[in-house]
Amino acid sequence: MQVSAKSNSFLIVGGGVIGLSLAWELAKRGQSVTLVRSGSAELRSASWAGAGILPPVAIKNIDDPYDQLRSLSHELHHQWASELLALTGIDTGFRKCGGVYLGTSRAEVATLTANQFWWEDHGIEFRKLDIAELRALEHSLSCESNTIGAWLLPDECQLRNPRHLKALEAACQSRGVQFVEATVDRVELSPQGRATLYDPAGQAYTAEHICLCNGAWARMLMQQVELENGIMPVRGQLLLYQCESPPIRHIINDGHRYLVARSDGMLLAGSVEEEAGYNCHTTDEAINLIRQWAEATLPMLQHTPLVRSWAGLRPGSYDGLPYMGKAPGSNNLYVAAGHFRSGLHMSCGTAVIMADLMLGNTPAIDITAFRVGRG
Ligand SMILES: Cc1cc2nc3c(=O)[nH]c(=O)nc-3n(C[C@H](O)[C@H](O)[C@H](O)COP(=O)(O)OP(=O)(O)OC[C@H]3O[C@@H](n4cnc5c(N)ncnc54)[C@H](O)[C@@H]3O)c2cc1C
Repeated sequence: MQVSAKSNSFLIVGGGVIGLSLAWELAKRGQSVTLVRSGSAELRSASWAGAGILPPVAIKNIDDPYDQLRSLSHELHHQWASELLALTGIDTGFRKCGGVYLGTSRAEVATLTANQFWWEDHGIEFRKLDIAELRALEHSLSCESNTIGAWLLPDECQLRNPRHLKALEAACQSRGVQFVEATVDRVELSPQGRATLYDPAGQAYTAEHICLCNGAWARMLMQQVELENGIMPVRGQLLLYQCESPPIRHIINDGHRYLVARSDGMLLAGSVEEEAGYNCHTTDEAINLIRQWAEATLPMLQHTPLVRSWAGLRPGSYDGLPYMGKAPGSNNLYVAAGHFRSGLHMSCGTAVIMADLMLGNTPAIDITAFRVGRG
């Protein structure tokens, strides 16, 4: 039996934020959409695991396509949060909370000092804080011992990604998107360039337009149809504390580490970047490192229950850019994957750009730099 293909139908592979966002965007435009996603724990979505940090974006002189995608997406997140709430009743926790960037070494201070030029050139609001201002802003932080510089970026936002995914799924359902639980393990291209997907039981899936949105796992499916790609899993690990109320108001960033407080007192601490293949388990070593840093930075966490920890696989790419576009040599196969550390942030923009492309409209951003098939 073949699961297919009403005319002008769309088949999305992957139930993370990229697949769900694209499915919703297409369904909003009146298209018939089927989303195939794996229920396997081994393929657990990075989108669920992420922290939901949406850093401020350039608002002027936005020449670079990566920044254009981030800026488009940032703007859309404001709209989508309201639309999703109105449609599904789910509050995704999207809010502008601001971010504080700590410089805890001379090298980090130098980097952040240089970033000031970039922020200025691109219209991003920031303020350098002295230690007294930092203490006044975030009095629970242990900032005197190791902080030698701090900057406030008021436009940083956050999103509760598990809620955002739930809202997207509900929105898709309300717009008639069909969900199929299956793992696609094979892609074949006919001599005419038409792609068909198969699951391990031999069930075939096809459509007028197919988009691979299966994150770090897109690598293998792309390889099967000779699409060179540099997608690689980059493991991250997070801890969750349960505070009585939010102990910090802003997201606290320190290099690649961060603290994010949710409005109900849940507090995330992360993260690390590890090459561990497709292994999505936590390690004592990384969890202890994050814990030591978090509890040194916010000492009240030493007396706060640690609820749980988890790992996720970011879909990294060799050049840091996502793969977005049509597969060369195919007339119905597209890819939207490889968004690395910013997939939650760039999801709305990716959905709009990919929907335009798949519907034959000219996307608002030139996505040549993201082309599928680059090595
Ligand atoms: C610890 C951590 C923190 C992060 N923090 C942030 C952050 O603060 N801000 C931000 O913007 N981004 C963050 N990210 C990155 C972000 O989570 C990812 O870039 C984004 O989630 C990628 O989404 P995706 O839909 O492409 O992939 P995923 O979310 O991984 O989804 C892939 C989907 O495809 C399915 N799938 C896989 N293979 C198959 C198959 N063969 N057949 C069928 N289905 C399949 C999976 O089950 C899953 O549903 C973080 C990531 C991690 C791990």
